[in-house]
Amino acid sequence: MELFNVYPLVNITPVKALGATLWDEQGRDYLDFYGGHAVISIGHAHPHYVQRLQAQLGQISFYSNSVQIPIQAELARKLGQVSGYEDYSLFLSSSGAEANENALKLASFHTGKTRVVAFKGAFHGRTSGAVAVTDNPKIVAPFNATHAVTFVDYDLRAVAQVLKGGDVCAVIIEPIQGVGGIIMPSDDFLAGLALVCGAHEVVLIADEVQCGYGRSGRFFAHQHSGIRPDIITTAKGMGNGFPIGGTLISPKFKASFGLLGTTFGGNHLACAAGLAVLEVIEQENLVTHAAEMGDYLRAELLAHGQAQEVRGRGLMVGLRYDFPIKELRDKLLSEHRIFVGNASDPNVLRLLPPLTITKAEIDQFLTALYSLIPISEPA
Ligand code: PLP
Repeated sequence: MELFNVYPLVNITPVKALGATLWDEQGRDYLDFYGGHAVISIGHAHPHYVQRLQAQLGQISFYSNSVQIPIQAELARKLGQVSGYEDYSLFLSSSGAEANENALKLASFHTGKTRVVAFKGAFHGRTSGAVAVTDNPKIVAPFNATHAVTFVDYDLRAVAQVLKGGDVCAVIIEPIQGVGGIIMPSDDFLAGLALVCGAHEVVLIADEVQCGYGRSGRFFAHQHSGIRPDIITTAKGMGNGFPIGGTLISPKFKASFGLLGTTFGGNHLACAAGLAVLEVIEQENLVTHAAEMGDYLRAELLAHGQAQEVRGRGLMVGLRYDFPIKELRDKLLSEHRIFVGNASDPNVLRLLPPLTITKAEIDQFLTALYSLIPISEPA
């Protein structure tokens, strides 16, 4: 049997990785400035992470969600403490799309309504429920949609207008759009959005699947604006490569048996991975480190990166050029052995290095970038 061929692949086979470095079969090293779409949060093969997963495998990996699994409660407690959401509860799943689908389901159960408001360019996943909540041109048309969706600009009056219709269960927003090209609504917009949702009793969902877990320089990107969404979704950096998703739920939602469910969500290994990530984020002060490294990277890029726009926050950076970045991206890999990402906008280079990235590694990336785009001469 062959693999179903849906991913465009580069001709490199990583066989080993540590921190922000990957090695291929020939022993050549690569700098990972993308982390598999922000999945690698604490760096590849972090020793604490490896040790925690190995220890868990040696203990118990039997899984059934009809028995007590203390490590789930331990993860929920730790996530509440590190994120500042101790009063919320956690539903565990295995991916970002699932985390969002469960958030939308909860919003529908809670309000008895099914319309969702989302923002142009947003991406919330590829399951049939989540794919219905993207207008990303790369995603095929929605099918079997459980929710009707209205897409709007970052315009509070436009949002309020739709909410007045009275059929909306939720507004879902990425505090920083990832796939869309690192597009950021202002903090004031997020604060206003929370007020508009509150006034119409509509559930506000912050999709932190890509921008969360310390990447923006706060634990969750929406925390820059001071809002507290009703539901927060997370995945990617949550497991540093192990599949795990989480839906963080405000106390105003009441749980009942059978309301939500999944076979693999919350299995022991996923929880061990999730705990190891949070422990390392805390021990190594990675949220502050991401803010500091992000400031350094952005300042350099603003001064010398030759981009029309330097977007994002912390270690979630988008460079918009006045040309398609495909060749630049290819050359960073083939000539400098550096992985970077693209976005649905072909002119945007997407940078999502591990939160552990060092200044020396950032300088290595900058030197490579400047060699491909000559830096501007002082006037
Ligand atoms: N939400 C956002 C903001 C994402 O970036 C993604 C994936 O790129 C998803 C949801 C879907 O996550 P997953 O691919 O784990 O289902």
